Amino acid sequence: MPSKAKTLSEIKRDQECTSDRHAYSANHSKAKEIRNSARWQKYRKYFKRKNPICCDPLNLHPNEVRMTQQVHHIIGIEKRPDLAFKYENLASLCTACHSKIEAKERKGEPTQGLFKGQGGMKIARD
Ligand SMILES: [Zn+2]
Repeated sequence: MPSKAKTLSEIKRDQECTSDRHAYSANHSKAKEIRNSARWQKYRKYFKRKNPICCDPLNLHPNEVRMTQQVHHIIGIEKRPDLAFKYENLASLCTACHSKIEAKERKGEPTQGLFKGQGGMKIARD
């Protein structure tokens, strides 16, 4: 597939990413590449179709069914780019849950344990 020119928002996102607060900078550009790839966009859609409901790992909305808006990597792509396309490493989240999880990750809090029973749990967690 021919690589198309970057849109302004993509360029902007790249710039934001280089000034970054992410912990795993070594794998960061690799992660960005994956997130921007057509393969990931496609896989994301597929996962959302299979898992249309937010798994609500923090019990934010126990009485409310919310649609999946974000496909979350349980073990982040920055940490394990090799697990980016592992079905078992993905979790379905609504936007509210996803922002809470991301906020925890930014603070360095462990979040992987919140997803036990989600995805498929065959990956050893540390
Ligand atoms: Zn949710």
